Amino acid sequence: MKRIYFDHSATTPVHPEVVATMMEYLTDKFGNPSSVHSFGRETRKAVDEARAKVADLIGAEPNEIFFTSGGTESDNLALKGIAYANRKKGNHIITSAIEHHAILHTCEYLANQGFQITYLPVDQYGMVSVDDVRNAITDQTILISIMFANNEVGTIQPIREIGKLAREKKIFFHTDATQAVGHYPINVKEDNIDLLTMAGHKFNAPKGVGALYARRGVRLESLQQGGAHERNMRAGTENVPGIVAIGKAAEIAKRDMNEQIAHLQGLRDKLISQVLATIPHTQLNGHPTQRMPGSVNFSFHFIEGESLLLNLDLKGIAASSGSACTSGSLDPSHVLLAMGLTHEVAHGSLRITMGLGNTEEEVDYLLEVLPEIVARLRSMSPLYGAAASEQVSNPCSTCHRHE
Ligand SMILES: *Cc1c(COP(=O)(O)O)cnc(C)c1O
Repeated sequence: MKRIYFDHSATTPVHPEVVATMMEYLTDKFGNPSSVHSFGRETRKAVDEARAKVADLIGAEPNEIFFTSGGTESDNLALKGIAYANRKKGNHIITSAIEHHAILHTCEYLANQGFQITYLPVDQYGMVSVDDVRNAITDQTILISIMFANNEVGTIQPIREIGKLAREKKIFFHTDATQAVGHYPINVKEDNIDLLTMAGHKFNAPKGVGALYARRGVRLESLQQGGAHERNMRAGTENVPGIVAIGKAAEIAKRDMNEQIAHLQGLRDKLISQVLATIPHTQLNGHPTQRMPGSVNFSFHFIEGESLLLNLDLKGIAASSGSACTSGSLDPSHVLLAMGLTHEVAHGSLRITMGLGNTEEEVDYLLEVLPEIVARLRSMSPLYGAAASEQVSNPCSTCHRHE
């Protein structure tokens, strides 16, 4: 059976050109970039070139890019690095309720260290309000961290306006842009961004490499002690093959971005309009227009996202659901709950995220099999018959915990 991958927000395939480019650095070119000899010099040069390409993708300078192991590490370095370096100035951090756990759990950790955290709410589309950010600022605020695009529902935040506000108030602004980098135009200067997180495996480089952009002059406390790598910001011998790969992926993303955005938006909009037209009791989650080009999230009322995923998997289609989280818990997504969805509706969510290699034929195949699967699951659902006719509220029996 042909398999279809619609889970690009979880991770992406490595671009064939990236594989070809990094291969040399897994074989012949294995030197330590800190070594003085020719083996070291050739990998140092490769790391420098990759840094320039990553910087170029987001409109930064090469010396503003620090390589890390991925999104989680960059988020930790940004938040703790700023918090520790500025604790004499203040102890307040503003973030949102819909951040990735790499941000939320780091904030919880910082709260235990004595920092005050404000978690801003979002509207029904998953959008943070700039006025809410403004109203949350106190004379203790040292950092605002708002994600660029949400990984579950794809909503794109008003980053430039939040950045402008932060700059006026002389507060550092970090954005977790892990979902947006390589897929959406970003310019850290025009967007008023001080710190930005990215992960290679979300834009067709391999897992285990990422970067933090920190604007020149932004002082961070390093979280790892050791050698002077990454200008004393991140000790440890560089992941040269990974760094070469993220550099190549950045170059390709910039080259192909306009074409890729147009292609994915076409697939996305076809999928959204056809599903809403053909499957009753269905809602689109996330913003109708301010959303990532390849990102779709529906809730099919009266069914479980988990059963939907298993049935799609039997048809060769890989997607994701708001009720399946990494911990294996059945608690519904904190993002969907923050958007005001009930537990029942959040449990019926399906995330389809498209990217490199996806075709219109694949979307057509999904459109062919999805209505039958939804209809079959609903026919087996005790909730469906009663609730479809009158809006009754069903106790949510699947959640482990009701927040
Ligand atoms: C994937 C992701 C992360 C974590 O990145 P890793 O490379 O898996 O550590 C953080 N934030 C967002 C928004 C993500 O999508």
